[in-house]
Amino acid sequence: MSKILIVEDELPMALALKDNFELEGYEVVVANDGEAGLKNALEGIFDLIILDVMLPKISGFEVCKTARSKGIETPIIMLTARGEEYDKVRGLEFGADDYVTKPFSLIELLARIKAVLRRGAAHKKETIANSEIVIGRLKIDFTSYSALIDDIPVKMSHTEFEILKHLWQKKNETVKREDIMKQVYGVDGEITSRTIDNFIVRLRQKIEIDATNPKYIITVHGLGYKLVLS
Ligand code: CA
Repeated sequence: MSKILIVEDELPMALALKDNFELEGYEVVVANDGEAGLKNALEGIFDLIILDVMLPKISGFEVCKTARSKGIETPIIMLTARGEEYDKVRGLEFGADDYVTKPFSLIELLARIKAVLRRGAAHKKETIANSEIVIGRLKIDFTSYSALIDDIPVKMSHTEFEILKHLWQKKNETVKREDIMKQVYGVDGEITSRTIDNFIVRLRQKIEIDATNPKYIITVHGLGYKLVLS
């Protein structure tokens, strides 16, 4: 079942959309302002976001821009007011997938939703098929556990794979050393944080152009590490 997030401050509109989407078999969450909408969007659990432009606290554009800058690729349909041609362009520039002008017909919106969800599903399949990920100099495939540096196959230990995979899944977030240890070795693993640091050194040698001046795996002092990817 597809999950849709509606970010809309006009309650009657939000509830009418919710009812109709649920009748179509979608699972729906409603956020009533930009701040709540962004928080929900950043969870990354939705298949589609319906995003009003004029919202309290944070505008729809800002929500869209921020979500995209944080790596959220959920398809977004913006709701714009009639005649806001300029806004339509801005919305698409900020990473929205489509827009619908208010007042709109429900049939039109549902048709757009179906089209966007179809494209989203196709994109998802593509992403899974093409599982090679590029991190700095390293090309890595977490499904086949293979890695290349400058297109030459390179040996990596299982632990290196697991640590990098964990950082990648939480890319652009600070990941605590304890969290890495737990993830890779389980709660009872006999390992010190120093060991994690040693693995990070080895990963940096594979990824970074200059391992002494890392640009990808950044140390967050006193906490852990962050994998920085745009
Ligand atoms: Ca509004």
